[in-house]
Amino acid sequence: MAGEDYYKVLGLDHNASENDIKRAYRKLAAKYHPDINKAPDAEAKFKQITEAYEVLSDKDKKANYDQYGSADGPQGFGGGGAGGAGGFGGFSGGQGFGGGGFEDIFSQFFGGGGGQAHDPNAPTQGRDLQYQMGLSFDEAVFGKQTTIKYNREATCQTCGGNGAKPGTKPQTCQHCHGNGYVTVEQNTPLGRMRSQQECPVCHGTGKEIKEKCPTCHGAGQTEQAHEIAVTVPAGVDDGQQMRLAQQGDAGSNGGPYGDLYILFSVKPSKYFKRDGNRIIYNQPISFAQAALGCEIKVRALNDDSKTEDGQVSLKIPAGTQTGTNFRLKGKGIPNVNGSGRGDEVVNVNIITPRGLNKRQREALKEFADASGEDINITKNQSFFDKMRDKFDKK
Ligand SMILES: [Zn+2]
Ligand SMILES: [Zn+2]
Repeated sequence: MAGEDYYKVLGLDHNASENDIKRAYRKLAAKYHPDINKAPDAEAKFKQITEAYEVLSDKDKKANYDQYGSADGPQGFGGGGAGGAGGFGGFSGGQGFGGGGFEDIFSQFFGGGGGQAHDPNAPTQGRDLQYQMGLSFDEAVFGKQTTIKYNREATCQTCGGNGAKPGTKPQTCQHCHGNGYVTVEQNTPLGRMRSQQECPVCHGTGKEIKEKCPTCHGAGQTEQAHEIAVTVPAGVDDGQQMRLAQQGDAGSNGGPYGDLYILFSVKPSKYFKRDGNRIIYNQPISFAQAALGCEIKVRALNDDSKTEDGQVSLKIPAGTQTGTNFRLKGKGIPNVNGSGRGDEVVNVNIITPRGLNKRQREALKEFADASGEDINITKNQSFFDKMRDKFDKK
């Protein structure tokens, strides 16, 4: 199967989108799945389709394939021994077909294994869709109401989903009497063998559409614009997903719609670092503030304006060291799964003054003097030197 063009296998050209690839695979896999299609070459064809899909649906493998014509990257890297070679993810690494391999992919699409999932007339849930929603830091923290628009496969409005031209109806297939399968008898060296095969007239649907709907050409579904109101809950974080039931693609044979997953991508704050439900804020203070103690205003979330422009008072006790954390209870981010809020953590950093004027310099010298400190140590070791020696001995 090397040498086969994976795009061609799926009936696509080389700039097919992720969605095109999924859709093509879904259609072809449903058609050639060995449980459905009893033609002698169906299984080989199905494996080929699945192999193509495994590569083209995987970002790394697809990039390798597009660039080097092989999922394993540059030729020569592939072979057994070099298996783990860097980022070239080993498609060849022994993940054979025939076992779980293709069934796994198949069941991702068709929900559940067993024969029942492959019955072409069984109600099947539609495909799940994903929608990426960008949020500012504020919007993620406080939540918002919005409306989103996207395209999805929905029941064809011309035919109401049965695929037949208005005024006509799908008929029960006369060849298989609606079963979708026909029993075939064959003479073999072991005697007469009976086997079931997909009905060649209706291809397993048990129905025959004599005149197809002009809008959907018999599919019963068309891609349609869809709009829904969305409540973004307060406290969502970057990379989290929210499921909206039945907002995905339409199902087939009366099956339910698939779900929509909204994937949030949240811009970082200019001021705060986020750590789960906590926000961390770095507050610079002066040496005098740290030494004498003070009360300052620090930045906080503003619940009224739903912005990052709030303020809260913070007492800095006398003698505070640089790097000390102060916890403002309940001033962090709301818990997206329930009630309560995280904390704001204020990390204070003492800023050493620069470019001192004459008066400041005098005052500091006087301060050192009053502390009994000799700034230029020449005679005996200072307290700091003793500390340093201790660390150096380690
Ligand atoms: Zn239609
Ligand atoms: Zn039939």
